[in-house]
Amino acid sequence: MPTTTLPKDIKTELLQLLKTKFGYDSFRPNQEAVIADVMAGRDVMAVMPTGGGKSLCFQLPALALPGTALVISPLIALMKDQVDALRANGITAAYFNSSQPEIEQKHTLHQLENGALQLIYVAPESLSLLDNYLNTITINLIAVDEAHCISSWGHDFRPAYTQLAYLKRRMTGVPMIALTATADKPTQDDIVKQLAIPQASRHLASFDRSNLYLEVRPGNNRNKQILNFLENRTDESGIIYCLSRKSTESLAEKLQAAGHKAEAYHAGLTPEERMRVQEDFINDRVPIVVATIAFGMGIDKSNVRWVIHYNMPKNIEGYYQEIGRSGRDGLPAHTLLFYSYADTVQLRKFAQGSPTEEYQLAKLERMQQYAEALSCRRKALLNYFGEFIYEDCGNCDICKRPPQYIDGTVLAQKVCSVVARLKEQEAMGTVIDVLRGSENATIYDKGYQEIKTYGAASDVPWRDLQQYVIQMINQGVLEIRFHEHGRLVLTPLAKKVLFEGESIQLARLIKEKPAASVAKTLDDATGILFEKLRQLRSTIAKEEGVPAYIVFSDATLKDMETKKPQTLDEMIMVSGVGQAKLDKYGERFLKVVQQQKPKTKKKKTKGNTYAKTQKLYTDGLSVEEISEKRELTPGTIYGHLTKLQADGADIDLYRLISKGDLERLEQAKEELKEVTGLKDFYDYFEEEMPYWKIRMGLYLLSSE
Ligand code: ADP
Ligand code: MG
Repeated sequence: MPTTTLPKDIKTELLQLLKTKFGYDSFRPNQEAVIADVMAGRDVMAVMPTGGGKSLCFQLPALALPGTALVISPLIALMKDQVDALRANGITAAYFNSSQPEIEQKHTLHQLENGALQLIYVAPESLSLLDNYLNTITINLIAVDEAHCISSWGHDFRPAYTQLAYLKRRMTGVPMIALTATADKPTQDDIVKQLAIPQASRHLASFDRSNLYLEVRPGNNRNKQILNFLENRTDESGIIYCLSRKSTESLAEKLQAAGHKAEAYHAGLTPEERMRVQEDFINDRVPIVVATIAFGMGIDKSNVRWVIHYNMPKNIEGYYQEIGRSGRDGLPAHTLLFYSYADTVQLRKFAQGSPTEEYQLAKLERMQQYAEALSCRRKALLNYFGEFIYEDCGNCDICKRPPQYIDGTVLAQKVCSVVARLKEQEAMGTVIDVLRGSENATIYDKGYQEIKTYGAASDVPWRDLQQYVIQMINQGVLEIRFHEHGRLVLTPLAKKVLFEGESIQLARLIKEKPAASVAKTLDDATGILFEKLRQLRSTIAKEEGVPAYIVFSDATLKDMETKKPQTLDEMIMVSGVGQAKLDKYGERFLKVVQQQKPKTKKKKTKGNTYAKTQKLYTDGLSVEEISEKRELTPGTIYGHLTKLQADGADIDLYRLISKGDLERLEQAKEELKEVTGLKDFYDYFEEEMPYWKIRMGLYLLSSE
C-alpha cells in the first residue's frame, strides 16, 4: 500500500530541509505522497505535469538520506540546469557525461568516491563508466527522470534507457523512482516493466496547469497577430512553434526586422548553433525562440511567459507538453494556438501512408476538436487525459468570452444547398467561393456562376463563412472526404436542414481581444519594484555566469515584491529563498527593497489623499466640488474614487458613468484587437472620452 503522508518526525525534518535548502514552505500536490514512498524505501512511478515539481520528489529524499542519489537524465542541458540550480542552493551535485573534458570527469569521480556528492546526474549512455563506483559507494536512491524515454510507446524513445533495468537488479533495496510528464496507461506499464519495478506505487498527479491561459485563434494574418501580441511583452521569454524549418527561419527574420530579439531553432542547425540558441534563451539573452518541436525537452527554464503555436500540433500530447514549458514557476503564462484549416490538411498528408496512419489521424482529429471547441478548453484537455473536471476553468478564451449562439438555420440551408448543387464534388474553398459569389477563374471555368445559389451568402466575410462551415462539419451537417480532395458531402442531418426545417445554432464569431492585457494596463502602477529586483537578478546572473532564474525565479521576485522584507529574517520568509541564497544574495536584494521605501511613503501620502477624497465624497460633495476644494482636477478625483471602490470602499461608480459610455467601451474592447494601454482607447474615441472615464469604465467592465 502506498503511504500518502510522511511520519510526523520525518515530515518535520523534510519540511525544514525544504525551507532551508529550497526556500519553500510547503509541498506541491503529490510531492509529499511520492516522497513518503521513497523515504520508506519503495519504488515509485510519478506522472506529474511539466512544471509540477518532479525534481524535488527525488532531490529532497536525496538530501535526507545518507549517501548519494543517482539520477538518470537524458540530456546534458537538462542535467546542467538542475545541477546549477542545486549548487545555487548550496547542495553538492555534479553531472557526468562522455562529452565532458577528462579533467572534469576525474574531478567528479573523485568527489563521488569520497562521498562528497549528494546527487550525481548521468546520461544513460555514460552509466557504464560509473560502474566500478556504484559498488563502493552508498547509493540512496535511483531516479529516472523523463522515464517515458524508455518506452517505444512514448514519443522520445532513447535506446540506452532500455538498459536501466540492471540498476535495480544490482542494487536491490535501493528505491527507484521513475518520473515523467507524459505517459498514458500502456506507457506506464511499459516503464515499470522495463525498469524491473513491477511493484512500484504509482502516483498520478492532476494534469491541470491552471496558470496557463489557453487561447485559440483563427490562423489568418498570423504574423501581424504575433507582432501585436509581442507589443506589450518586451523582455518576456517565449517560444513560437512552427511546423517546418523554413517557417521558423522566415518568422524569426520577420520578428528581427520588427526589432525583436528572436532566433530560429531546428534540427537542421549544427549542434553548436543549436546549443548557442538554447543557451542564449536560457540565459535571457534572447527572449524569443522560433522553433520546430525539436526544441524544448532540455529546457527547464522556469520563466517562459508564453508559448505560441504557429501551426496546429499533431496531437494533444505534444501540444500539452509544448505549452507546459511556459509558466513552470506557477505565475500566469499565455498560450496561443493558431488554427487553420490548411494546417489540418497538411498534417493529414503527413500521416498518410504511415503504418500508424489510422492512429495518427484519430489523434489529429481530437486535436482539431480541441481547437474548434466551443466550451471550456481546459475541460476538453483534461478529459483527453482521462481527468474529469466539472467546473469551467475561467482561464481560457472560451470561459472569458463564451460564444453566443445565433440562429444559423438560413445560412446552413444556403451552404447545404450550394453543396448539393455542386453535386458534392467540391472542397470547402470552392463551396465558399460560390456562396460568396466570387469571380475567380475556377468559378468561371466550371460555370458555377450559373448556379442558382451563387452569391447567396455574399454578405458574410470569407473567413467567417469558413468558420461557420467548419462548425457545420463539427455538428455533423457536412462531412469532409479527406481522401477525395476534401470534397464536402451532405449528411442525413443536412437533408433534414434542407427539407424538414431542422434548425441549426451557430456560434457567433467574436473578434479576439485578450482580456488579460486590459487587466495589465490597470495594473501598471505595480511592478516598479519587481523591475528593480529583476535588474539586480540579471546583474548577479552575469557576475556568476548562470541563467537568471537560477539566482531566483520570477515567482520568488514576485513574492519578494509582495512581502517587501525589511530584514534578513523577513527575507527568508520569501518563497524560494533558502539559507544558501539568503547568505549569498540576501543583503543585496534587501537593499533594493529598502530603497523602495520612499516610494511606500509616497504611497502613504497618497493613501491620505484617497482618504481625504473619500471623506468629502461620503460627506455628500459632488466630484466638481471635491475637485475645487482639493485643488485637483476632476479626473484625479474620479481616479481616486475608482481606486477606493476597487479597494473595497462603498462607492457606487455606476452613478458616475453612463450606461451608454459603458456600452461604447465594451464595443471598443471588442474592436480593438490588441490593447497596449489606455491610450488605445483614447485614440479610438478620437480623444473625446477622458482618461478617467476609460479607466473607470474598463474597471467596471472587468469586474462585472
Ligand atoms: P518538473 O520536472 O515536474 O517539470 P520542476 O521540478 O522543474 O518541474 O519544478 C518546476 C518549478 O517548481 C521549479 O522552479 C521548482 O523550484 C518549483 N517547485 C517545486 N516544488 C515546489 C514547492 N513545493 N513549492 C514551490 N515551488 C516549487
Ligand atoms: Mg523535470
